Amino acid sequence: MSQETTDDLPALWTHEPHIHLAFKPGDSVAAIDTNATPGFKGSKRDAPDLLLERAERFAELQEMLYANSLAGDNRKVLLVLQGMDTSGKGGIVKHVVGAGNPQGIQYANFGKPTEEELAHDFLWRVEARLPTSGHVGVFDRSHYEDVLIVRVHDLVAPEIWSTRYDTINDFEKRIALDGTTIVKVAMFVSLDEQKKRLSERLDRPDKYWKYNPADVDERLLWPRYQEAYQAMLERTSTDVAPWHVIPCDRKWYARLAVTELLIEALEGLDLSWPPADFDIEAEKTRLASA
Ligand code: AMP
Ligand code: MG
Repeated sequence: MSQETTDDLPALWTHEPHIHLAFKPGDSVAAIDTNATPGFKGSKRDAPDLLLERAERFAELQEMLYANSLAGDNRKVLLVLQGMDTSGKGGIVKHVVGAGNPQGIQYANFGKPTEEELAHDFLWRVEARLPTSGHVGVFDRSHYEDVLIVRVHDLVAPEIWSTRYDTINDFEKRIALDGTTIVKVAMFVSLDEQKKRLSERLDRPDKYWKYNPADVDERLLWPRYQEAYQAMLERTSTDVAPWHVIPCDRKWYARLAVTELLIEALEGLDLSWPPADFDIEAEKTRLASA
């Protein structure tokens, strides 16, 4: 365990969350306790204040990354969010990433591919949305849909989707070498909790927009999705881009956990505020008489 990054970790965590959440060979998707709060000693009552405080820390580091890019730093961070409907991807985008400075955030959502996208290799549309220097990019779904929904629904032949795991690993290795820190988060809710969240969407006019009748069909395919998620985690958890498995029945836990993963990634970059590239004293004098 690296000690340097634990210094600022709030006392409510027993260890850096990535230690509890990293996918390990042998871990089983079917066995995930989606209601658990691994590594967190606090309770739901502690969550709002802690999230506020840690989201602020995330925002500070994120702005620092952006500021450094103006001084030539090429580094960037990519948060990949994968999860079934209602797992809380939107909440992470809104409450965690949303705490950042929009100037340095690049958001991309990947839905059903367009005709044009389908005419290209599956990574084409993904390449086009990769975060540029200084940015925190968020993928709300990602290239992993091409080994998840595509596999479950036989949208391409097995000979094709089965080659994609290696293709994805090569791709992620390449972008990591190009200065991208990759944070991959797989979000899991129980079927019961999903039913609750879907029925809430049907009961509340402010949530209709999130409801998609097709979500009910996907729900029925959960065993096949489990298989596809298992293969994804086993085959694409690499040194440069490990997967984290987040239990998401408690939204407050998922948000706190992802915030810590982002902070850890950013702290790993050893950022500081870039020095002024002008003569501060001379500028003060000039300004005083301007
Ligand atoms: P949402 O994230 O709720 O906007 O839903 C987007 C939908 O697009 C989900 O059902 C995804 O599974 C689907 N989708 C995303 N990528 C692909 C893909 N490559 N092929 C087919 N469907 C996809
Ligand atoms: Mg949806």
